[in-house]
Amino acid sequence: MIIKNAQIVLVDQVVKGWMEILDDKIVKICPGETDQLGVDLNWSWIMPGFIDCHVHGGYGITFESGRIEDYVEYAKKTPQEGVTSFCLTSVTNTVEKNNQYYAEFGKFMLEFNHGEQATCLGAHLEGPFIAPSKKGAHDATLLKKPDIKLTQQWNQLTHENLKIVTYAPEEQDGSYTKWLIQNKILPSAGHCNIGAKQFLEQEYLLGVRHVTHLFNQMSGVDHHHPGLVVAAMDRDDILCEVISDGIHLDPLVLEMIYKTKGSKGIVIVTDGMIAKGMKDGDYLLGDLSVTKKGLRVVLKGTDTLAASPAGFDHNVRTYAQLCQIPMVELAHMSATNIAKQLNIIDHTGMIAPGMDADLVVLSNDLVVEQTIIKGKVVYQNEHKDL
Ligand SMILES: [Zn+2]
Repeated sequence: MIIKNAQIVLVDQVVKGWMEILDDKIVKICPGETDQLGVDLNWSWIMPGFIDCHVHGGYGITFESGRIEDYVEYAKKTPQEGVTSFCLTSVTNTVEKNNQYYAEFGKFMLEFNHGEQATCLGAHLEGPFIAPSKKGAHDATLLKKPDIKLTQQWNQLTHENLKIVTYAPEEQDGSYTKWLIQNKILPSAGHCNIGAKQFLEQEYLLGVRHVTHLFNQMSGVDHHHPGLVVAAMDRDDILCEVISDGIHLDPLVLEMIYKTKGSKGIVIVTDGMIAKGMKDGDYLLGDLSVTKKGLRVVLKGTDTLAASPAGFDHNVRTYAQLCQIPMVELAHMSATNIAKQLNIIDHTGMIAPGMDADLVVLSNDLVVEQTIIKGKVVYQNEHKDL
């Protein structure tokens, strides 16, 4: 397939030109025009497909649906947001329920994670190993101290496809962190109350370089008692998940994060949940009742935010338009950084010859026109005739 008249967003520059895809790989990128037959993008943007490393579900589906066919359905729906890879994320559940869900998820990973759908990179376990004081929309009665045996059990049920664990580092002595790293699971500090000093002296030294939804449900900015936010903003090599829906963080805070961390220190996430793409009303997040109204979801009867119904493309647009972020930087924030973090950058997460053709085509106002996964057009915006 030839894609021509495109603004191609590479890792360090934008090339106005054309590219060739053979089977599932990008084989050629050239500046200028070509006479070859191909898909004419009319100078739309083409960038690496978005990677959402923190998403609970959407379109009426959630990790806690616990059914293979639902996971497949989600993988087929999320490309409409420009997403080509994702980590499906669990909330705090009982051990028995997690055993059941993780076993089903494991079967999905083994047998159904292919074809014309987004690629699931594995699971992200968010809870139960989080701090009660920063539980957010997690069931307080089910929280536990970080537990190697349980984590090992769930990882085995997924056939070693547990990729990220969000946990409260202060609830353990470093041994849990070490175990995650030894087992190639990305440790992510979040839903926690750790002080900046303790984090830097213990967890950072052990190798923790990822933080779950910066600012949301973590120790913050107190000039006498700096929390995880301060440590994460201070160290350039910590990658911070940012929910840039315009609701979880005030626009001024989004700007401050961008100025402080720069595009290499941010990974846009959705924290998306079952109500994404659905009408307003009541839904379940794990076992908790939540209410969706517009782009806001709260624990029913409270103001506590409970994940988000916004799509990845919304978060990309919101951040880009708010901070006038150049497209090359946007590609780092939406794909390349997390691909490096998850060690998949050898085949996806940027546009270069030899990489998987995981791509998103965006209009000038950053609306998804087309999503290509491993060389196949998986989503086509019907309002746009390419
Ligand atoms: Zn979440």
